[in-house]
Amino acid sequence: MGSGAADRDGATSMRDADTDGLPTFADVARAAERIAGAAHRTPVLTSRTADAMTGGKLFFKAENLQRAGAFKFRGAYNAISALPEAARARGVITFSSGNHAQAIALASRLLGAPATIIMPGDAPAAKIAATRGYGADVVLYDRYTQDREALGREIAQARGLTLIPPFNHRDVIAGQGTLALELIETAGPLDVLVACLGGGGQLAGCALAAAELSQGCRVIGVEPEAGDDGQRSFREGRIVTIPVPRTIADGAQSTALGDLTFAIIRAQVTDILTVTDAQLVETMRFFASRMKLVVEPTGCLAAAAVLNGLVDVRDKRVGVVISGGNVDLATFARLTGAAT
Ligand SMILES: *Cc1c(COP(=O)(O)O)cnc(C)c1O
Repeated sequence: MGSGAADRDGATSMRDADTDGLPTFADVARAAERIAGAAHRTPVLTSRTADAMTGGKLFFKAENLQRAGAFKFRGAYNAISALPEAARARGVITFSSGNHAQAIALASRLLGAPATIIMPGDAPAAKIAATRGYGADVVLYDRYTQDREALGREIAQARGLTLIPPFNHRDVIAGQGTLALELIETAGPLDVLVACLGGGGQLAGCALAAAELSQGCRVIGVEPEAGDDGQRSFREGRIVTIPVPRTIADGAQSTALGDLTFAIIRAQVTDILTVTDAQLVETMRFFASRMKLVVEPTGCLAAAAVLNGLVDVRDKRVGVVISGGNVDLATFARLTGAAT
């Protein structure tokens, strides 16, 4: 695939232009069955204030209230459930900036699989502590100098573990898609679905669900302005890799889409937009003050685009993903101005 991103992702360049390996809506439906009873069916919230601000009818999928605090539990639980018994017993390993780590740690505990997590040393303290709290073995690395994927493969091989990456994985993408499946089941057909974008698991999975359940629904991904690799990839038609972006959206600091997520996004997504850190902070304040929700910066991506008028939502039924709520209380207070 020409780009280093796909090559670095391990054995992915072999699938160049081959869509046979891509998940489909059937995988999303199977994931919904697997996670039923384990994942929360999170609420779909509405806000007259948000509707009045935008002129649309907004349906917020509150994945900040998901187990382990983010939508990532869906993909993690689905992927570990799908493993053969023997592989599950040997254990799983992953690398993550936080929420996927916690999700894997919790899901693996629930499913009886030992978990090893490779996390950046500068990840929020609450995320590192929570991951250890779920019983996982946490290995820290330096995100600016070390290649986490190479490290992951090394440890996986040495210990016989199954690597479950945070987004470029068929069962992870399918699991994330269940959030859109639930959203559309609850809210009804949508004109627009706006998702948060890091490596593209959420956006790709949601696009699969929307295409099947809400025909004609436009699907839009939103990423941090400093990390616009998704937008550039979408527009250039190839996976663009960027240096680790500096943004408060720590769950969207991925440097490139995966080959699987890119293929689905390219085929099914309408557009990719970017928002600034300042717009994310404004949106955190909105959620806290108007909707009484604690949302982490990354979890505000989709809503920030909608509330700032970047998406045409007038008189439309709009799904908005609130993707996570894991933020240190001190950081939350500092960013929202709640600290005195
Ligand atoms: C991981 C994450 C994202 C981005 O999801 P991808 O599947 O990597 O695109 C968005 N929001 C939160 C809260 C996350 O943890």
